[in-house]
Amino acid sequence: MIKFVSVHKFFGALAALTDVNAEVKKGEVVVVCGPSGSGKSTLIRTVNRLEDIQSGSVLFEGKDVHGKLGGSALNHLRSRIGFVFQSFNLFPHLSALDNVMLSPMKVNGVKRSDARETALRLLDRVGLAAKAQNYPGQLSGGQQQRVAIARALAMEPPAMLFDEPTSALDPEMVGEVLSVMRGLARDGMTMMCVTHEMNFARDVADRVWFMDAGRVIETGAPVDFFRSPQHPRAQRFLSDLH
Ligand code: ADP
Ligand code: MG
Repeated sequence: MIKFVSVHKFFGALAALTDVNAEVKKGEVVVVCGPSGSGKSTLIRTVNRLEDIQSGSVLFEGKDVHGKLGGSALNHLRSRIGFVFQSFNLFPHLSALDNVMLSPMKVNGVKRSDARETALRLLDRVGLAAKAQNYPGQLSGGQQQRVAIARALAMEPPAMLFDEPTSALDPEMVGEVLSVMRGLARDGMTMMCVTHEMNFARDVADRVWFMDAGRVIETGAPVDFFRSPQHPRAQRFLSDLH
């Protein structure tokens, strides 16, 4: 579903991604981990072209994301990829319900009544049926992030990308967001998650990718990665967590 082929990305002289080759299969959950500054955010941001690349290619459902795409093709592509950020990025002047209804109506031309029905179902799915009329400022961080997930799901994307979705949350709210993500994984969603939550990686991921200095230097099943990481940098990363 997502494939990186010899991807290179520079910020000026800085090599942010170097020769990344990896793929996410349909229905797979991949957790991307690695030290700060290793290129995790940059990597997932290339998938919906929030970042451009200098060489190589990124394929989504077989389509070259960085190839020649008109504005509408790019918007269509982006509508197929749900993206959840560390900062929830909800519209502050819209209720939770309206946040979730907005894109399906504006981008996909879904009827208001249908968008509302879907949004209520999704808010229920993330445990927030009772908060539909609340504004973001009236919600906790964990609740806002769950609204952000519902909002992404409203576009019915075949894949979801998460960039440290729990890093901005107070510790007591991390669990509720991870539990929504576990549910998505259980339902077969294709997911690429940048996270430092190694228990989530251990339990939920099909594959773990470890990045260092712009390269994906190790990929493996969680049992192998956590029990016997091959690369010295990965060994050090894991032992520093304990
Ligand atoms: P991570 O998410 O793993 O912490 P990033 O992908 O954010 O790492 O960053 C990778 C490298 O690229 C870092 O050295 C970072 O400082 C640099 N970088 C990220 N975004 C930009 C930018 N917009 N301009 C310049 N350098 C950037
Ligand atoms: Mg990052």
